[in-house]
Amino acid sequence: MGARTSTETKPRRNRPTAHKANRDDWNMRKTGGLQILTACQLVDLDWLAHGFSTRPGGASELQLSPGRRSEHVLNLGFTDWDGRRNVLRNREEFASCLGAHEMRLLALRQVHSDIVQGIHSAPSESPLQGDALFTREPGMLLTVQTADCIPILFADTRARAIAAIHSGWRGTLRRIAEKTLGRMRMEFGTRPEDVVVAIGPGIGGCCYEVGHEVAKEFASQFRQAREWFEGPFTAIAAGDSDPNWLPWLTMAPPGHAPEPPRVHLNLIAANRAILVDAGVRPQRIAVSGFCTSCRTDLFFSYRRESETGRMMAAIGIRGKSQTKRKAKSER
Ligand SMILES: [Zn+2]
Repeated sequence: MGARTSTETKPRRNRPTAHKANRDDWNMRKTGGLQILTACQLVDLDWLAHGFSTRPGGASELQLSPGRRSEHVLNLGFTDWDGRRNVLRNREEFASCLGAHEMRLLALRQVHSDIVQGIHSAPSESPLQGDALFTREPGMLLTVQTADCIPILFADTRARAIAAIHSGWRGTLRRIAEKTLGRMRMEFGTRPEDVVVAIGPGIGGCCYEVGHEVAKEFASQFRQAREWFEGPFTAIAAGDSDPNWLPWLTMAPPGHAPEPPRVHLNLIAANRAILVDAGVRPQRIAVSGFCTSCRTDLFFSYRRESETGRMMAAIGIRGKSQTKRKAKSER
């Protein structure tokens, strides 16, 4: 491991929350008591409706801790603590804020897989199982739910096809974003250079501590995995699970047992790099830069809160009449 180890084991205060985030590429729109995050590159496409939901507003009441006041939140997932009616009402309100109230909202039963569902007509089975959806059909609002995992939206500007992807560490490890691109290429002739990508709010490298197994799995799958981790990644990847961890021992104060070495994973950087490797132009990938765990005022974080809500990332193709209406209203 040599020289690498010493720099890796130095604890760092300010870890980057995301890779090359540029807030100018994003817009936080307040509408009807909700705040919707949109990516400017997707807003520019008049044939699309899209948005990433945030926490405030909504019909759901989340009790932060016993004895404390409850908070009104826009929970868009069917969780144990919330009623189905609230969630459906929230989903309706969210869709209408996107100008997509006439679209059919398609949600997945997400299983942290690399299953990609192509939608060619309204599916009879509901909800579909998997972690990515793509289509070329107008009137379908493709959604994924997250509370730390990375939501990703695609728009192929040439073939006019779209996708919504849920990518946690398992999905990232299995390259779900790249596989979705592959399916779109197979079915619609999508070329990576024509695809605009928006990577929404998710847990940042600042907060996402993962176990040795995760680091080892990434090391086995990606030559550049080292770049996505903070901490003694190289030592872990090399299979060094010696409990004595010399560098850590020397850092521990006398009389204290050494802390087990930890690594942090930057899933946003990983997904971005996977897409660039697959041929997507770096300047066409917008990264929101928000860490869900750092910003529980704006987002839900399962890691940080455990009992919490779900956000949605949504994208849909407008029908011809809707596209005209949108163009008119913006004139
Ligand atoms: Zn964070």
